[in-house]
Amino acid sequence: MRICRFNHDKLGLVQGDEILDISAALEALPTHRWPVPQADPLIAALPRVMQAALDLAPNAKRLPLASVTLNSPVSYASKLPAAPVNYLKHMAEAQGDPATFHAHHLKRIEEVGLFLKASSSLVGPGDGVALRHLDRRNDHELELAVVIGKTADRVPVASALDYVAGYAIGLDMTVRGPEERSLRKSIDSYSVLGPWLTTADEVPDPANLDIELHVNGELRQRANTRDLVIGIPQLISWASSYYTLLPGDVIFTGTPDGVGPVVPGDVISARIDKVGQMDVRVRAA
Ligand code: MN
Repeated sequence: MRICRFNHDKLGLVQGDEILDISAALEALPTHRWPVPQADPLIAALPRVMQAALDLAPNAKRLPLASVTLNSPVSYASKLPAAPVNYLKHMAEAQGDPATFHAHHLKRIEEVGLFLKASSSLVGPGDGVALRHLDRRNDHELELAVVIGKTADRVPVASALDYVAGYAIGLDMTVRGPEERSLRKSIDSYSVLGPWLTTADEVPDPANLDIELHVNGELRQRANTRDLVIGIPQLISWASSYYTLLPGDVIFTGTPDGVGPVVPGDVISARIDKVGQMDVRVRAA
């Protein structure tokens, strides 16, 4: 099932190049008063929402996919854990360009561990990326994004995939420079998630997905998730050994080689097997 958020507060089921408006499925969500839960209510209730979507689909209003604005399928993430240098070829390209990639950011992932992007940086493809610090290099990083569906506290590798709600394309946008990753990668709109949530049942083997990214039609990144240094179950288990992962948390699994700069006016096109394809416009903030 491909579940999207569109036009800010609408819920959709994606079928081909159409969206079925299943916003009435949101009635399945509990209403909240203060203190609000720390998890995304939609993702936390996903099994119920999926059932409601199936019930609503036959009579749902259909819209052309191209006619809507796609927002992040996760409206609230308590955190965005991210893997640095998780493809060996990206490590090699970074080591080969010390002017762009600062040496103290080039340790192996096993040494550095994971970092966190601010959840306020999360947007969808239709929102676009608003670049800041235009005097510096702003890069695209294409990543498979894993959306956590169930509370995960110190989970073993063997059962880690049971905690996944689904997958999406992630763009870990980055200002290059010497500062901590958490600062350079947390700018508003620097975490793009989309084009929708493809539920985990449609991605039986997330460790064998072709991923690719073009900028203005030019191929920049092409890889397969089988080349991840630390795989998805291991990332989930590792992250959850430090902090509890909550429904709606999004793990950015790391980028392959081919990262490069974007400037206002560019269009990033990203595609991941079994997940989807999205275009993201780049502008100045
Ligand atoms: Mn990254």
